[in-house]
Order: sequence, then C-alpha cells, then structure tokens
Amino acid sequence: MITKERSSSVAVRTIQALEATETKKHVSQLALLGGKPAFAEGLHVGRPNVPRGAARARFMKRMTEILDRQWLTNHGPVVKEFEQEIARLTGVPHAIAVCNATQGLQVAAKACELTGEVIVPAFTFIATAHALNWIGLQPVFADVDSATHSMDPRQIEKLITPRTSAIVATHLWGRPCAVEQIEKIARWYELPVIYDAAHAFGCSHRGQMIGSFGSAEVFSFHATKFINSGEGGAITTNDDELAARIRRLVNFGFEGFDRVVDVGTNAKMSEAAAAMGLAGLEMIDEVIEINHKNYAAYQAGLAGLPGVRLLPNDEREARNHQYVVIEIEADRAGLSRDQLRDVLWAEGIMARRYFYPGCHRMEPYLTERAERHFHQVLPVTERLAESVLTLPTGTSVGADEIAVISQIIRLALKGAPEVILKLTGTEHALASAGS
Ligand SMILES: *Cc1c(COP(=O)(O)O)cnc(C)c1O
Repeated sequence: MITKERSSSVAVRTIQALEATETKKHVSQLALLGGKPAFAEGLHVGRPNVPRGAARARFMKRMTEILDRQWLTNHGPVVKEFEQEIARLTGVPHAIAVCNATQGLQVAAKACELTGEVIVPAFTFIATAHALNWIGLQPVFADVDSATHSMDPRQIEKLITPRTSAIVATHLWGRPCAVEQIEKIARWYELPVIYDAAHAFGCSHRGQMIGSFGSAEVFSFHATKFINSGEGGAITTNDDELAARIRRLVNFGFEGFDRVVDVGTNAKMSEAAAAMGLAGLEMIDEVIEINHKNYAAYQAGLAGLPGVRLLPNDEREARNHQYVVIEIEADRAGLSRDQLRDVLWAEGIMARRYFYPGCHRMEPYLTERAERHFHQVLPVTERLAESVLTLPTGTSVGADEIAVISQIIRLALKGAPEVILKLTGTEHALASAGS
C-alpha cells in the first residue's frame, strides 16, 4: 500500500488507488472492461486547493478578526491587503479585487467604453464571450494557434470591422498569448486590448508578470483555479485613470459616500473571500511546486506514447502549471479523445474536455452564426475541441496517482481494439471518433 505522510500547508490527499489497481497490467483489468475502478472516490480536474495546518489556522484567525471587526465587505482591510499582495506579485500599480472574473471582464469592458464588436478567441472558457454578450457587445470569434492554443494573431485583422472596439485575448492554460503581435495590431487599429488572465496568475511573459499587459487584465480566483477565494477575481492595470474608473464601477458608480458619477454594478469582493484569497497567496509557491512536480510526473508517465502530446510550458518563464493538457491524435493513438475519456471516467479519473465544443458552437453564438449565414471556418479550434483532454493535478494528486493514471492511459492505448469493441460494438478504431 502506498500511504505517505506529507507535511505541508496545503491539503495533499493520500492515494485512493487500491492495491489491485497498482498491478493493472492487462487491458482486461481496466474498469471499462470489468475491472475495479482505480479511484472509487473520483479524481477531479480543478479540485480546490485549500489551506491546512498553520495556513488554515491563520485563515481561521483572519475570519475571527473579520467577525470581531464587523466589517464584512465594501473594501475592508482584508480586501485591501489582498489587493496589495496581487499588485506586489504582478508588479502592477493597481489591483482591484472583484467578486469573480466574469464580472471583472464586464467591468473592465465598461471602463474601457467598449461598443459593438469585440474580437475574442473561439477556444476559451465560455465566460470570455458571455461576459461581453451580457453587456450588449458582440463577440467575434478568432481561431487559435495550434502550438499555443491561444488566439492566433494572424486571424485577427480579417475580423476587424468599423464596429470593432477591442480585442479580448485569453492566456489559455496560463501560457501567455501572442502579446506583442496582438498589441501591434491593436495599436495600428487604435483598439484597446483586455486580457482574460483567468488562468495566468503567477505566470510571466518574457520575464514580465502577466497582469501588466494591455489596458487591463482580469484574473479569476474561482474555487477551481489554482489560487482561489471561493468565488473571486481581480482586475489589474497600469493606468491610474482607468483604475479609478474601475473602482467606481465595481461599487455602483460611487465616488465618496453619496456621490454617484457612473453607471456601476456591484462587483465587490467580500472580506471572507479575500481572507481565503490571502491564504491561497500564502501557499502559492508550494502549490506551484506541487503542480510542477505533477507536470513532470505526467511527462515521465506519458513519454513515448504515440499520438499523445503533453502541452509544454516555457521553462524560462514563471508558470503555475495549473492545467495538465494533452492532445490525442486519434489515428496515431488508436483511440479518440472521447474513447480515452470514457476509459478514464470508468476508473474515476474525471479528465475534462476543456473547452469543447468551442464558444462558437455554444448558444447563442451557434444560432446567430447560422442566421447570419456566417460560415467562417475555425479549423484549429475544431481540431482542439475534438482532441484536448485536461488531466487531474493540483494538491489533490501526487506522483502515485499520476503513475496509476499514466499506466491506465498506456494500457488503454495498447488495448485499443478491445476498448473500441466494448465502446462501439465494432472493431473500427474511429467508429465513434466523429472524424
Ligand atoms: C474561470 C474562467 C473565467 C471565469 O472566472 P470566474 O471567476 O469563475 O467568473 C473566465 N475566463 C476563463 C478563461 C476562465 O477559465
């Protein structure tokens, strides 16, 4: 049995895998084919990293102080401290804490006075597009680059119209998008750039921390992100005036106690959320180290598997490694991404098809595009939507679990014909691959 005592300020769970699963050597032992599931409890992508030990005690102390102070929200001292920490860690003069990144994107878009159309990547979490749509803007989808999975700058220019008011680009998986090329195009057309940096806290681009690019950047501290405040986010900017405007907009447009000067919303972060966020920031190095080790364990575990590509990270940059992303090339791997996912889910390994099927195939964009007879092709997004799988990482998994997961992937690909026969009732590899 593998049970290790790990002393750490983050909740590292011990392996759930049973002895039987450590010895899975034959394809017939796969849960899909009647074997015992490797992880009865389920291993999830984005299981929250929570403080424990001394870090948890500090969090509890902060919560007690919040209650004693009876100051629960409206830019209290804990939110101020959280904002200062974010500003310090990103090297940006202004960080404004918000209740979540979706509201953060909306506030940033309003503060930049966007109108009409905004160019966004098609391969991103739906909130990038929905946040804009919710405030009456029209997201226009650009294809992404197959190497980076982020917006392909070569696709932007042909989407610019007189109605275009901005570019909103995502640093997908925490890997910086093509900042220089995007900003060059933006300068030429005099468009502001806002970055959806929901994945990219703690990451750098050419040595400069994400948070300091464009007009503003928006981080998410949602429970599933590697640093979390339950729900939460932050907007960062170098622009003093924009920062002042954002501060008004997150608080109903108030300037002072009873002077309203803007149409604002309520996007404030609560003190309790900020306390959780601070606990997260206190353990950031430790969480990144665990994520980094997990990434290396997957790298070793999946090495040499044909048709399986582990998305690399640039070793020269600061990274958070919060996503472990693989691409399955069905005809080389022997199984499609969906078939492999079925194998993993049967084992309790809840690998996710982020960001299937692409924003442009979700409503209302799918119908809008059909109605406008807009047949723009997004070949890279389409391919990634069929081939990307994200695997469990974070403080809930370690090398032991990853060895088991990697071995299951190996067995599944080796026994592909049996897996396919079970899933489709036929022996044709691509019977249900949809390609
Ligand atoms: C999580 C996420 C968001 C939304 O963040 P919330 O804080 O949950 O509102 C936006 N964009 C991307 C790319 C995300 O992954």
